[in-house]
Amino acid sequence: MTPEIFLSKIKELPEVWEPNHVGSNVLAPLFSYVLTEPVIYHQGRELLTNKLLSLTLSMARKHAPYYSKLIPDKHDWRAEHLNILPMIDKCELYANQSKILSEITTFGFVTFTTGTTKQPPLLIERSQEEQLYLQNFFSILQSGVLKSNKAKPLGIVEGSMNHGAVLRLPGIGYNFMIELTKDYGIIRTAWLLQNKFNFKGIENKVSQMNTTVMGLSYLHQYLTENNIEIPPGQLKSITVFGWPVPKSRREIFEAYFKVPIHDNYSMSEMFGGAKYCKECDGYHFDPFVVPELIDLETNTSIKTGTGELVLTPLFPFTQRFVLIRYRTGDLIDVDTVMCNKGTLVYRFRGRLKRCIKVAPYIYFGEAEVAKSIDAIAELNRAPSGFHIFKDNDKNNWPLFKMIKSGNAIEIQVELKSPPLEAPTIALTVEKKIYNNILKELPKSTRNWIKSNPEKFKITLKPPFSVKERDYWNL
Ligand SMILES: [Zn+2]
Repeated sequence: MTPEIFLSKIKELPEVWEPNHVGSNVLAPLFSYVLTEPVIYHQGRELLTNKLLSLTLSMARKHAPYYSKLIPDKHDWRAEHLNILPMIDKCELYANQSKILSEITTFGFVTFTTGTTKQPPLLIERSQEEQLYLQNFFSILQSGVLKSNKAKPLGIVEGSMNHGAVLRLPGIGYNFMIELTKDYGIIRTAWLLQNKFNFKGIENKVSQMNTTVMGLSYLHQYLTENNIEIPPGQLKSITVFGWPVPKSRREIFEAYFKVPIHDNYSMSEMFGGAKYCKECDGYHFDPFVVPELIDLETNTSIKTGTGELVLTPLFPFTQRFVLIRYRTGDLIDVDTVMCNKGTLVYRFRGRLKRCIKVAPYIYFGEAEVAKSIDAIAELNRAPSGFHIFKDNDKNNWPLFKMIKSGNAIEIQVELKSPPLEAPTIALTVEKKIYNNILKELPKSTRNWIKSNPEKFKITLKPPFSVKERDYWNL
């Protein structure tokens, strides 16, 4: 399909969409082009997103009691009009959980949030209609693969109940379900990765992996600690969902597993997220969701800068658990770019609840600090070894804590040996931490550090002396 045909096909779509239009054989292939060749279909993608948004909002108004009075009766919504509607945050979501469900859907199954933000986990309902739609959608996308005589791909997918992992793109034929936060899950995965199978018409070994970044970290730790090597040519690709892979680990993982890692930001609450773009060193969003940036001082919608990410997942990919302008609680930076894959690039900085604000718009995210110091070998980590799986909080990230006093910040970081015993090493490590933080954190924070040197302090601590440390656990 050429960009011109794609655009004309979208323009031919009915003025007002009905739910039965979206399940048609016309629409699903269009999405496959949006996903696989976003470069040349950008213009069409905007039209498509706005059409899906109009349908999402009219369905929500008609069928989800929470939204019936909030959404005006209007048929031609555009993403930039969304800001006339109220947002919904996690507290409101807990209070109105039953009222945001679409009444015309049939209960199918549940997923859940893991509660890593120290909030109680949230059950997320999905409908049978949604599941059927997604199955049809993926089978159309994969129809080429499934009809050919080539061996069908064999993969492994972590966490079937989370992040829509079981349904992730692109076209994986058959998957073994795994769990990488438990001992047995890691052992089973290591076994799956080293064995050959003899299923008729299916690849004889696992060639694709789909995991969370934490799952991949645990798996890599186990495999390397036990000197297990992945057979050459075993894997063709690894896809990561949830939170993105930090740069410090991407290279190590790619070198060990000998394949490129495809990186995604996604969340349990909805289908769809953002994909990593090498050219921009940032992320572009899928057409299944409408992203917005909310100014943290004025609470209004802005186009670029620092703010909170607000997402609206779109019908028909999200049908039962209706979220309109959902406050994700994630701190992000958004920039305009000259990229063929999207005009806006998103960078994820950490959970807002765990960030430290030192001045208006100036933040230190716990995730970005953890990532920036991760590659420094002299830093102390939670005890490594297989027993870490008994406690998910004890992943092997460097041990550190961010402490705010007034409008100053101190970052305490543990060394493997007491800093006083080797003052020269301590000084070198302190410089490394400083430089890495300057490099990893966005320009706004970098400039603040440079012009407020007296307000930014790094303190090196002896091993296991930092209490209630910050950690990046996802
Ligand atoms: Zn890009």
